[in-house]
Amino acid sequence: MYSNSLIELDRAHLVHPVASYRGHEQQGVRVLASAKGATVTDASGRQLVDGFAGLWCVNAGYGHESIVEAATRQMRELPYATTYFGLGSEPAIRLATELAERAPGDLNHVYFTLGGSDAVDSTVRFVRYYWTARGEPRRDQFISIEMGYHGSSTVGAGLTALPAFHAGFGIPFDWQHKIPSPYPYRNPVGEDPQAIIAASLAALRVKVEEIGPERVAAFYAEPIQGSGGVIVPPRGWLKAMRDLCRELGILFIADEVITGFGRTGPLFACSEEGIVPDFITTAKGLTSGYVPMGAVFMADHVYQVIADGAGASAVGHGYTYSAHPVSAAVGLEVLKLYENGLLENGRKAGGRLMAGLEALKDHPLVGEVRGRGMLAAIELVVDKKNKTPLPAEAQAARRIFDRAWDNGLVIRAFANGALGYAPPLCCTDADIDAILERTAVTLDQTLEDPDVRRVLKD
Ligand code: PLP
Repeated sequence: MYSNSLIELDRAHLVHPVASYRGHEQQGVRVLASAKGATVTDASGRQLVDGFAGLWCVNAGYGHESIVEAATRQMRELPYATTYFGLGSEPAIRLATELAERAPGDLNHVYFTLGGSDAVDSTVRFVRYYWTARGEPRRDQFISIEMGYHGSSTVGAGLTALPAFHAGFGIPFDWQHKIPSPYPYRNPVGEDPQAIIAASLAALRVKVEEIGPERVAAFYAEPIQGSGGVIVPPRGWLKAMRDLCRELGILFIADEVITGFGRTGPLFACSEEGIVPDFITTAKGLTSGYVPMGAVFMADHVYQVIADGAGASAVGHGYTYSAHPVSAAVGLEVLKLYENGLLENGRKAGGRLMAGLEALKDHPLVGEVRGRGMLAAIELVVDKKNKTPLPAEAQAARRIFDRAWDNGLVIRAFANGALGYAPPLCCTDADIDAILERTAVTLDQTLEDPDVRRVLKD
């Protein structure tokens, strides 16, 4: 059997990211064979609706011929061109230009990477270089947020605040600090938006004081905390944090690897609050996952300090595949799709998704529904009043993921039992309805799980 032999080969040779290796050996891989629109087909021919756009990345949906053509054309003409030694390629220059024109404010300088982790890593290097060039090399302390995710490189995973990314890896470093998450559903100050914003501002002030105001280099925030469980801060939170960073004289980096490129509605979530960070990191939707690429957007004032600081010397940061022409050609085509109806469709589909998830609020297991645009989560509890998470024995994430899969739905099940949604922006009404119906069935089946039943409170 095609699929069975692949399972054996996978077990023997393919090391999977963020997996229990032993658990995976037992479970075996699920092989995807093809996809179109928002539907993926597995190796046995079974179709599922992809409620998570791969890994929050296939924003355009699968099977766009125009993207395939753009990549093929570029591969034929010029499959590779380095951007070292003053060289370049037309698609890279054009994509940087198109992106700079659309980025908020003066984020006019674009540095291409291979994905989100090295985009974050690049900002850490640029930030250090910036402060050194400004004559303040002692500004070497970085602050990020509990439950945040900033990639899986050694440096970025230290800014990440999810325990699995630290345990056994000897990180975070002692220059990496955290403040609490503005998690409205489980915030010690309650759910009042103004109280949550005030608490985050106070926490950042205190942390900066603790570290020493002259030592702090930068603050990192996701507009919506994705991998932490789609945690949506109150409106105004991002702007308040950005303004405080300016007041404290520290750089502000918005990590838009998930929220960028239409996931929450506009091209950049930062524009929803009218803010201009010093850097924005992006990846995923930039190429809609068809080929790897990330981009760091750098504000004018940062770029000028770095450029002047280096003078005639090289700024020693680069990758063989920086500004890869095939990825750039794909990025240009995907950008056209966003502007020719995809962003608009995403906003419409996002409204339907959120309304449908809100309608599940009365389900006995649904503690909270949250989201913005095509990025959403429902947090499951067994006791709504006390917000008690599903019992550990229920292995909520694994079992719910499996049930949803068996119902023909791909979602993300977070360790705490929250279910994450990030469907392709091309979803039709029927796709969204399928996601909602299959979610409802999955929730009802979870209600019948003996480990859940045992502890369920009305
Ligand atoms: N930053 C954020 C906010 C992310 O969500 C991710 C990935 O999910 C990354 C960085 C890392 O991106 P990549 O997996 O492309 O390295």
